[in-house]
Amino acid sequence: MTIDLQRFSKERTFIEDIFKGKKKQVEIGGWVHNTRTLGKIRFLILRDMTGLVQITAVREKVSEEIFHVMSNLSKESVIYVKGSVQDSKKAPGGKEIIPKEIIVLNEAKDLPIDVSDFSKTELPKRLDYRFLDLHRKRTQAIFRIQSTIATSFREYFIKKNFIEFQPPSIIGSSSEGGTELFSAKYFEKNAYLAQSPQLYKQMVACSMERVMTITPVWRAEKHNTIRHLNESRQMDIELAFADAMIVMKEMTEVVKYIVREVLNKNKKELDLLGIKLKIPKAKYITFTETVELLKKHKVHVGKDDLTPEAEKKLDEIFPDTILFVHDWPLSGKPFYIMPKDANADAKLSEGFDAIYKGMEISSGGQRVHLPDLLIKRLKAKGLNPKDFKGYVDSFRFGAPPHAGWSIGLERLTTLIVGEKNIREACMFPRDRDRLTP
Ligand code: ATP
Ligand code: MG
Repeated sequence: MTIDLQRFSKERTFIEDIFKGKKKQVEIGGWVHNTRTLGKIRFLILRDMTGLVQITAVREKVSEEIFHVMSNLSKESVIYVKGSVQDSKKAPGGKEIIPKEIIVLNEAKDLPIDVSDFSKTELPKRLDYRFLDLHRKRTQAIFRIQSTIATSFREYFIKKNFIEFQPPSIIGSSSEGGTELFSAKYFEKNAYLAQSPQLYKQMVACSMERVMTITPVWRAEKHNTIRHLNESRQMDIELAFADAMIVMKEMTEVVKYIVREVLNKNKKELDLLGIKLKIPKAKYITFTETVELLKKHKVHVGKDDLTPEAEKKLDEIFPDTILFVHDWPLSGKPFYIMPKDANADAKLSEGFDAIYKGMEISSGGQRVHLPDLLIKRLKAKGLNPKDFKGYVDSFRFGAPPHAGWSIGLERLTTLIVGEKNIREACMFPRDRDRLTP
Protein backbone atom coordinates (compact mmCIF):
# COMPACT_ATOMS: atom_id res chain seq x y z
CA MET A 1 0.00 0.00 0.00
CA THR A 2 1.12 3.49 -0.62
CA ILE A 3 0.09 7.07 0.10
CA ASP A 4 -0.47 10.25 -1.87
CA LEU A 5 2.85 11.97 -1.12
CA GLN A 6 1.75 15.40 -2.34
CA ARG A 7 -1.25 15.36 -0.04
CA PHE A 8 0.83 13.92 2.83
CA SER A 9 3.56 16.53 2.50
CA LYS A 10 0.89 19.20 3.08
CA GLU A 11 -0.90 17.45 5.92
CA ARG A 12 2.11 15.91 7.67
CA THR A 13 2.89 16.83 11.27
CA PHE A 14 6.49 16.49 12.34
CA ILE A 15 6.84 14.65 15.63
CA GLU A 16 8.36 17.51 17.62
CA ASP A 17 5.33 19.66 16.70
CA ILE A 18 3.00 17.13 18.31
CA PHE A 19 4.53 18.09 21.65
CA LYS A 20 4.67 21.80 20.92
CA GLY A 21 1.23 22.23 19.35
CA LYS A 22 -2.40 21.67 20.21
CA LYS A 23 -3.34 19.67 17.12
CA LYS A 24 -5.64 16.76 17.97
CA GLN A 25 -5.66 14.84 14.68
CA VAL A 26 -2.32 14.15 13.02
CA GLU A 27 -0.76 12.32 10.12
CA ILE A 28 2.81 11.29 10.73
CA GLY A 29 5.44 9.24 8.97
CA GLY A 30 8.72 7.68 10.00
CA TRP A 31 10.63 4.63 11.12
CA VAL A 32 9.66 2.01 13.70
CA HIS A 33 12.16 2.79 16.44
CA ASN A 34 10.96 0.19 18.90
CA THR A 35 7.97 -1.99 19.72
CA ARG A 36 6.71 -3.44 22.98
CA THR A 37 3.87 -5.72 24.00
CA LEU A 38 2.05 -5.55 27.31
CA GLY A 39 -0.92 -7.92 27.60
CA LYS A 40 -3.55 -6.54 25.27
CA ILE A 41 -1.65 -3.37 24.47
CA ARG A 42 0.83 -2.77 21.65
CA PHE A 43 3.30 0.10 21.95
CA LEU A 44 5.30 1.46 19.07
CA ILE A 45 7.85 4.24 19.16
CA LEU A 46 7.92 6.11 15.86
CA ARG A 47 10.92 8.21 14.80
CA ASP A 48 11.16 10.97 12.25
CA MET A 49 13.88 13.56 11.69
CA THR A 50 12.56 15.66 14.57
CA GLY A 51 11.99 13.18 17.37
CA LEU A 52 10.17 10.18 18.84
CA VAL A 53 6.53 9.59 19.76
CA GLN A 54 4.68 6.66 21.24
CA ILE A 55 1.80 5.04 19.39
CA THR A 56 -0.47 3.02 21.62
CA ALA A 57 -3.04 0.45 20.52
CA VAL A 58 -5.38 -1.13 23.08
CA ARG A 59 -7.03 -4.22 21.64
CA GLU A 60 -10.67 -3.22 22.27
CA LYS A 61 -10.14 0.35 21.11
CA VAL A 62 -8.57 -0.10 17.68
CA SER A 63 -9.55 -2.10 14.61
CA GLU A 64 -8.54 -5.72 14.28
CA GLU A 65 -6.35 -4.79 11.33
CA ILE A 66 -4.42 -2.06 13.15
CA PHE A 67 -3.84 -4.33 16.12
CA HIS A 68 -2.53 -7.01 13.79
CA VAL A 69 -0.16 -4.61 11.99
CA MET A 70 1.10 -3.21 15.30
CA SER A 71 1.78 -6.73 16.53
CA ASN A 72 3.93 -7.62 13.57
CA LEU A 73 5.98 -4.53 12.73
CA SER A 74 9.73 -4.97 12.56
CA LYS A 75 12.24 -2.31 13.64
CA GLU A 76 13.20 0.35 11.05
CA SER A 77 10.18 -0.38 8.85
CA VAL A 78 8.74 2.80 7.39
CA ILE A 79 5.13 3.54 8.19
CA TYR A 80 2.44 6.17 7.79
CA VAL A 81 0.14 6.74 10.76
CA LYS A 82 -3.07 8.71 11.06
CA GLY A 83 -4.35 9.13 14.58
CA SER A 84 -5.39 11.32 17.45
CA VAL A 85 -3.12 12.93 20.02
CA GLN A 86 -3.87 12.10 23.60
CA ASP A 87 -2.30 13.29 26.83
CA SER A 88 -0.71 10.45 28.74
CA LYS A 89 1.33 10.67 31.92
CA LYS A 90 3.10 7.40 31.15
CA ALA A 91 4.10 8.15 27.56
CA PRO A 92 7.50 9.74 26.90
CA GLY A 93 6.98 13.50 26.51
CA GLY A 94 3.46 13.24 28.00
CA LYS A 95 1.60 12.54 24.74
CA GLU A 96 0.77 9.51 22.66
CA ILE A 97 -0.99 8.73 19.40
CA ILE A 98 -4.06 6.51 19.18
CA PRO A 99 -3.89 5.12 15.61
CA LYS A 100 -6.84 5.15 13.22
CA GLU A 101 -4.90 4.08 10.17
CA ILE A 102 -1.45 2.56 9.64
CA ILE A 103 0.14 1.94 6.25
CA VAL A 104 3.40 0.02 5.97
CA LEU A 105 5.41 1.76 3.24
CA ASN A 106 8.51 -0.40 3.45
CA GLU A 107 9.17 -3.38 5.64
CA ALA A 108 12.67 -3.78 7.07
CA LYS A 109 13.72 -7.35 7.71
CA ASP A 110 16.74 -9.05 9.31
CA LEU A 111 18.79 -5.93 10.09
CA PRO A 112 22.48 -6.72 9.57
CA ILE A 113 23.59 -4.29 12.32
CA ASP A 114 22.22 -3.15 15.64
CA VAL A 115 20.83 0.35 15.17
CA SER A 116 19.76 0.98 18.76
CA ASP A 117 21.21 3.91 20.69
CA PHE A 118 23.53 1.54 22.51
CA SER A 119 24.53 -0.45 19.44
CA LYS A 120 27.27 -2.96 20.09
CA THR A 121 28.09 -3.37 16.40
CA GLU A 122 31.74 -2.46 15.78
CA LEU A 123 32.68 0.46 13.56
CA PRO A 124 33.88 -1.47 10.46
CA LYS A 125 30.62 -3.41 10.30
CA ARG A 126 28.62 -0.23 10.85
CA LEU A 127 30.52 1.40 8.00
CA ASP A 128 29.76 -1.57 5.71
CA TYR A 129 26.10 -0.67 6.30
CA ARG A 130 26.52 3.07 6.71
CA PHE A 131 23.14 3.77 5.07
CA LEU A 132 21.54 1.84 7.92
CA ASP A 133 23.94 3.18 10.55
CA LEU A 134 22.58 6.60 9.55
CA HIS A 135 19.24 5.52 11.03
CA ARG A 136 20.88 5.78 14.47
CA LYS A 137 20.19 8.94 16.42
CA ARG A 138 23.80 9.02 17.58
CA THR A 139 25.15 8.90 14.04
CA GLN A 140 22.63 11.50 12.93
CA ALA A 141 23.70 13.77 15.81
CA ILE A 142 27.31 13.74 14.58
CA PHE A 143 26.35 14.73 11.05
CA ARG A 144 23.86 17.35 12.16
CA ILE A 145 26.72 18.93 14.12
CA GLN A 146 28.99 18.62 11.08
CA SER A 147 26.38 20.41 9.01
CA THR A 148 26.35 23.26 11.55
CA ILE A 149 30.16 23.41 11.47
CA ALA A 150 30.33 23.74 7.68
CA THR A 151 27.41 26.17 7.49
CA SER A 152 28.82 28.38 10.26
CA PHE A 153 32.22 28.45 8.59
CA ARG A 154 30.59 29.64 5.38
CA GLU A 155 28.30 32.14 7.15
CA TYR A 156 31.11 33.71 9.13
CA PHE A 157 33.26 34.45 6.10
CA ILE A 158 30.43 35.43 3.75
CA LYS A 159 29.40 38.03 6.36
CA LYS A 160 32.99 39.30 6.26
CA ASN A 161 32.85 39.84 2.51
CA PHE A 162 34.76 36.73 1.46
CA ILE A 163 33.75 35.01 -1.75
CA GLU A 164 33.32 31.26 -1.97
CA PHE A 165 35.26 29.75 -4.87
CA GLN A 166 35.39 26.26 -6.36
CA PRO A 167 38.87 24.88 -7.05
CA PRO A 168 39.47 22.07 -9.57
CA SER A 169 39.70 18.53 -8.24
CA ILE A 170 41.59 17.11 -11.23
CA ILE A 171 45.01 18.62 -11.62
CA GLY A 172 47.80 18.23 -14.14
CA SER A 173 50.70 18.20 -11.70
CA SER A 174 51.34 17.93 -8.01
CA SER A 175 50.24 20.99 -6.06
CA GLU A 176 52.55 20.47 -3.11
CA GLY A 177 55.28 18.13 -4.26
CA GLY A 178 55.59 14.73 -2.65
CA THR A 179 54.33 11.37 -3.73
CA GLU A 180 51.02 11.15 -1.93
CA LEU A 181 48.99 11.63 -5.09
CA PHE A 182 46.29 9.49 -6.61
CA SER A 183 46.76 9.39 -10.35
CA ALA A 184 44.00 9.24 -12.89
CA LYS A 185 43.77 8.90 -16.66
CA TYR A 186 42.73 12.12 -18.36
CA PHE A 187 42.28 11.31 -22.05
CA GLU A 188 45.85 11.01 -23.39
CA LYS A 189 47.41 12.64 -20.34
CA ASN A 190 48.17 11.70 -16.77
CA ALA A 191 46.25 13.60 -14.17
CA TYR A 192 46.00 13.59 -10.38
CA LEU A 193 43.37 14.13 -7.73
CA ALA A 194 44.02 17.39 -5.87
CA GLN A 195 45.87 17.02 -2.55
CA SER A 196 44.80 20.51 -1.59
CA PRO A 197 43.37 23.65 -3.19
CA GLN A 198 46.52 25.48 -2.05
CA LEU A 199 47.89 26.87 -5.27
CA TYR A 200 44.47 27.77 -6.65
CA LYS A 201 43.30 29.60 -3.56
CA GLN A 202 46.48 31.66 -3.66
CA MET A 203 45.85 32.60 -7.27
CA VAL A 204 42.28 33.61 -6.47
CA ALA A 205 43.28 35.61 -3.36
CA CYS A 206 45.81 37.48 -5.48
CA SER A 207 42.95 38.94 -7.49
CA MET A 208 39.79 38.73 -5.38
CA GLU A 209 41.51 39.32 -2.01
CA ARG A 210 39.26 37.40 0.38
CA VAL A 211 38.36 33.87 -0.58
CA MET A 212 37.20 30.68 1.05
CA THR A 213 36.16 27.19 0.02
CA ILE A 214 35.03 23.87 1.44
CA THR A 215 36.43 21.27 -0.88
CA PRO A 216 37.38 17.58 -0.97
CA VAL A 217 41.05 16.59 -1.13
CA TRP A 218 42.72 13.24 -1.75
CA ARG A 219 45.93 11.92 -0.23
CA ALA A 220 47.36 8.54 -1.14
CA GLU A 221 48.92 8.09 2.30
CA LYS A 222 49.26 4.36 2.82
CA HIS A 223 49.07 4.39 6.59
CA ASN A 224 45.73 3.67 8.24
CA THR A 225 45.37 5.92 11.29
CA ILE A 226 42.44 7.13 13.37
CA ARG A 227 43.15 10.75 12.35
CA HIS A 228 43.65 10.40 8.60
CA LEU A 229 41.38 9.63 5.68
CA ASN A 230 42.38 9.26 2.05
CA GLU A 231 39.55 11.54 1.03
CA SER A 232 38.69 14.40 3.33
CA ARG A 233 37.13 17.86 3.21
CA GLN A 234 39.02 21.06 3.93
CA MET A 235 37.69 24.41 5.02
CA ASP A 236 40.14 26.93 3.57
CA ILE A 237 40.61 30.66 3.54
CA GLU A 238 43.15 32.88 1.80
CA LEU A 239 43.54 36.59 2.37
CA ALA A 240 45.47 39.24 0.44
CA PHE A 241 47.50 41.88 2.35
CA ALA A 242 47.68 39.55 5.34
CA ASP A 243 50.37 37.91 7.46
CA ALA A 244 50.27 34.88 9.74
CA MET A 245 48.95 36.77 12.80
CA ILE A 246 46.04 38.27 10.84
CA VAL A 247 44.85 34.86 9.65
CA MET A 248 45.43 33.21 13.05
CA LYS A 249 43.07 35.82 14.52
CA GLU A 250 40.51 35.02 11.80
CA MET A 251 40.73 31.36 12.78
CA THR A 252 40.24 32.20 16.44
CA GLU A 253 37.09 34.10 15.60
CA VAL A 254 35.65 31.55 13.19
CA VAL A 255 36.27 28.57 15.50
CA LYS A 256 34.64 30.47 18.37
CA TYR A 257 31.72 31.28 16.06
CA ILE A 258 31.42 27.65 14.97
CA VAL A 259 31.42 26.36 18.57
CA ARG A 260 28.88 29.02 19.60
CA GLU A 261 26.61 28.02 16.71
CA VAL A 262 26.91 24.32 17.60
CA LEU A 263 25.98 25.20 21.21
CA ASN A 264 22.98 27.21 19.97
CA LYS A 265 21.69 24.91 17.26
CA ASN A 266 22.67 21.43 18.42
CA LYS A 267 21.78 21.32 22.10
CA LYS A 268 19.77 18.13 21.57
CA GLU A 269 22.62 16.45 19.72
CA LEU A 270 25.26 17.49 22.27
CA ASP A 271 23.07 16.12 25.08
CA LEU A 272 22.57 12.87 23.22
CA LEU A 273 26.33 12.52 22.70
CA GLY A 274 27.03 13.57 26.30
CA ILE A 275 29.31 16.40 25.20
CA LYS A 276 30.01 19.49 27.27
CA LEU A 277 31.42 22.06 24.87
CA LYS A 278 33.06 25.31 25.86
CA ILE A 279 33.82 28.26 23.64
CA PRO A 280 37.61 28.02 23.31
CA LYS A 281 40.19 30.62 24.24
CA ALA A 282 43.12 31.33 21.94
CA LYS A 283 46.80 31.31 22.77
CA TYR A 284 49.74 32.21 20.53
CA ILE A 285 53.10 30.63 21.26
CA THR A 286 56.28 30.15 19.18
CA PHE A 287 57.56 26.72 18.17
CA THR A 288 60.72 27.31 20.22
CA GLU A 289 58.70 28.18 23.34
CA THR A 290 56.55 25.11 22.75
CA VAL A 291 59.60 22.84 22.60
CA GLU A 292 60.95 24.33 25.86
CA LEU A 293 57.59 23.86 27.56
CA LEU A 294 57.24 20.26 26.41
CA LYS A 295 60.78 19.44 27.52
CA LYS A 296 59.81 20.53 31.02
CA HIS A 297 56.96 18.03 30.81
CA LYS A 298 59.37 15.38 29.49
CA VAL A 299 57.55 15.02 26.18
CA HIS A 300 59.48 14.20 23.03
CA VAL A 301 59.21 16.71 20.17
CA GLY A 302 60.35 16.30 16.58
CA LYS A 303 62.99 18.64 15.14
CA ASP A 304 60.50 20.49 13.01
CA ASP A 305 57.15 18.90 13.81
CA LEU A 306 55.02 18.09 16.83
CA THR A 307 54.30 14.44 17.61
CA PRO A 308 50.76 13.28 18.43
CA GLU A 309 51.94 12.87 22.08
CA ALA A 310 53.12 16.47 22.11
CA GLU A 311 49.75 17.66 20.77
CA LYS A 312 47.96 15.68 23.50
CA LYS A 313 50.14 17.15 26.22
CA LEU A 314 49.54 20.68 24.97
CA ASP A 315 45.80 20.11 25.40
CA GLU A 316 46.40 19.04 29.01
CA ILE A 317 48.43 22.17 29.64
CA PHE A 318 46.02 24.48 27.80
CA PRO A 319 42.53 22.92 27.92
CA ASP A 320 39.71 24.39 25.81
CA THR A 321 42.24 26.48 23.92
CA ILE A 322 43.07 26.87 20.26
CA LEU A 323 46.82 26.87 20.55
CA PHE A 324 48.60 28.59 17.67
CA VAL A 325 52.18 27.41 17.41
CA HIS A 326 53.84 29.94 15.12
CA ASP A 327 57.36 30.82 13.91
CA TRP A 328 57.55 27.18 12.82
CA PRO A 329 60.95 25.88 11.61
CA LEU A 330 61.14 26.51 7.87
CA SER A 331 62.35 22.94 7.27
CA GLY A 332 59.03 21.62 8.62
CA LYS A 333 56.82 23.65 6.30
CA PRO A 334 56.04 23.40 2.57
CA PHE A 335 57.93 25.46 -0.02
CA TYR A 336 55.15 28.03 -0.35
CA ILE A 337 55.40 29.17 3.28
CA MET A 338 57.19 32.52 3.68
CA PRO A 339 60.58 32.40 5.46
CA LYS A 340 60.72 34.60 8.53
CA ASP A 341 60.98 38.28 7.46
CA ALA A 342 61.16 37.22 3.77
CA ASN A 343 64.78 36.25 4.43
CA ALA A 344 65.90 33.40 2.17
CA ASP A 345 68.40 32.14 4.77
CA ALA A 346 65.98 32.18 7.68
CA LYS A 347 65.68 29.10 9.90
CA LEU A 348 62.14 29.99 10.93
CA SER A 349 59.01 30.60 8.91
CA GLU A 350 55.77 32.55 8.89
CA GLY A 351 53.96 29.20 9.15
CA PHE A 352 51.90 27.86 12.05
CA ASP A 353 49.82 24.93 13.20
CA ALA A 354 46.68 25.23 15.30
CA ILE A 355 46.17 22.58 18.00
CA TYR A 356 42.73 22.08 19.53
CA LYS A 357 41.55 19.32 21.85
CA GLY A 358 44.85 17.49 21.50
CA MET A 359 45.18 17.44 17.72
CA GLU A 360 46.32 19.56 14.81
CA ILE A 361 43.18 21.04 13.31
CA SER A 362 44.90 23.34 10.87
CA SER A 363 48.09 24.49 9.20
CA GLY A 364 48.59 27.89 7.70
CA GLY A 365 50.79 30.90 7.32
CA GLN A 366 51.94 33.70 5.12
CA ARG A 367 52.84 32.57 1.60
CA VAL A 368 55.74 33.43 -0.66
CA HIS A 369 54.42 35.94 -3.21
CA LEU A 370 57.85 36.81 -4.69
CA PRO A 371 58.77 34.62 -7.72
CA ASP A 372 62.56 34.64 -7.12
CA LEU A 373 62.19 33.67 -3.50
CA LEU A 374 59.68 31.01 -4.46
CA ILE A 375 62.16 29.45 -6.90
CA LYS A 376 64.81 29.41 -4.12
CA ARG A 377 62.36 27.73 -1.77
CA LEU A 378 61.38 25.10 -4.34
CA LYS A 379 65.04 24.26 -4.88
CA ALA A 380 65.70 24.14 -1.14
CA LYS A 381 62.93 21.52 -0.88
CA GLY A 382 64.52 19.46 -3.65
CA LEU A 383 61.70 20.30 -6.06
CA ASN A 384 62.18 21.33 -9.66
CA PRO A 385 60.97 24.91 -10.32
CA LYS A 386 60.17 23.85 -13.91
CA ASP A 387 57.42 21.59 -12.56
CA PHE A 388 55.86 24.62 -10.87
CA LYS A 389 56.38 27.14 -13.68
CA GLY A 390 52.70 28.05 -14.09
CA TYR A 391 52.33 28.54 -10.38
CA VAL A 392 55.48 30.66 -10.01
CA ASP A 393 54.53 32.76 -13.05
CA SER A 394 51.15 33.57 -11.53
CA PHE A 395 53.00 35.81 -9.06
CA ARG A 396 54.73 37.87 -11.77
CA PHE A 397 51.82 40.08 -12.69
CA GLY A 398 50.71 41.81 -9.54
CA ALA A 399 50.51 39.46 -6.56
CA PRO A 400 50.06 41.04 -3.13
CA PRO A 401 51.43 39.48 0.08
CA HIS A 402 48.88 36.96 1.30
CA ALA A 403 48.21 34.36 3.95
CA GLY A 404 45.71 31.61 4.71
CA TRP A 405 45.01 28.29 6.34
CA SER A 406 43.07 25.09 6.09
CA ILE A 407 40.97 23.31 8.70
CA GLY A 408 40.10 19.65 8.19
CA LEU A 409 36.30 19.37 8.41
CA GLU A 410 36.23 15.76 9.57
CA ARG A 411 39.14 16.39 11.94
CA LEU A 412 37.35 19.30 13.62
CA THR A 413 34.05 17.40 13.73
CA THR A 414 35.73 14.40 15.40
CA LEU A 415 37.13 16.63 18.13
CA ILE A 416 33.94 18.62 18.70
CA VAL A 417 31.77 15.49 18.99
CA GLY A 418 34.34 13.80 21.25
CA GLU A 419 34.98 10.79 19.01
CA LYS A 420 38.37 9.10 18.69
CA ASN A 421 38.23 7.74 15.16
CA ILE A 422 37.89 10.22 12.27
CA ARG A 423 35.78 7.67 10.38
CA GLU A 424 32.94 8.42 12.82
CA ALA A 425 32.88 11.95 11.43
CA CYS A 426 32.94 11.06 7.75
CA MET A 427 29.69 9.78 6.27
CA PHE A 428 31.28 7.57 3.64
CA PRO A 429 34.96 7.28 4.57
CA ARG A 430 37.64 6.34 2.08
CA ASP A 431 40.62 4.73 3.75
CA ARG A 432 43.36 2.25 2.82
CA ASP A 433 40.86 -0.61 2.77
CA ARG A 434 37.51 1.03 2.17
CA LEU A 435 36.03 2.22 -1.08
CA THR A 436 32.37 1.28 -0.49
CA PRO A 437 29.61 2.11 0.21
P1 ATP B 1 48.82 15.79 9.92
O1 ATP B 1 50.14 16.36 10.35
O2 ATP B 1 47.81 15.72 11.01
O3 ATP B 1 48.96 14.52 9.14
P2 ATP B 1 49.02 17.60 7.70
O4 ATP B 1 49.92 18.59 8.29
O5 ATP B 1 49.54 16.59 6.75
O6 ATP B 1 48.20 16.83 8.85
P3 ATP B 1 47.73 19.70 6.22
O7 ATP B 1 48.30 19.50 4.87
O8 ATP B 1 48.29 20.77 7.07
O9 ATP B 1 47.78 18.31 7.00
O10 ATP B 1 46.15 19.81 6.04
C1 ATP B 1 45.35 20.78 6.69
C2 ATP B 1 44.39 20.15 7.66
O11 ATP B 1 43.57 19.14 7.03
C3 ATP B 1 45.06 19.43 8.80
O12 ATP B 1 45.41 20.31 9.82
C4 ATP B 1 43.99 18.46 9.23
O13 ATP B 1 42.99 19.11 10.01
C5 ATP B 1 43.35 18.07 7.92
N1 ATP B 1 43.93 16.85 7.34
C6 ATP B 1 45.15 16.71 6.79
N2 ATP B 1 45.36 15.49 6.32
C7 ATP B 1 44.23 14.80 6.58
C8 ATP B 1 43.82 13.47 6.32
N3 ATP B 1 44.62 12.59 5.71
N4 ATP B 1 42.58 13.11 6.71
C9 ATP B 1 41.77 13.99 7.31
N5 ATP B 1 42.10 15.26 7.58
C10 ATP B 1 43.31 15.67 7.22
MG1 MG C 1 49.60 20.48 8.71
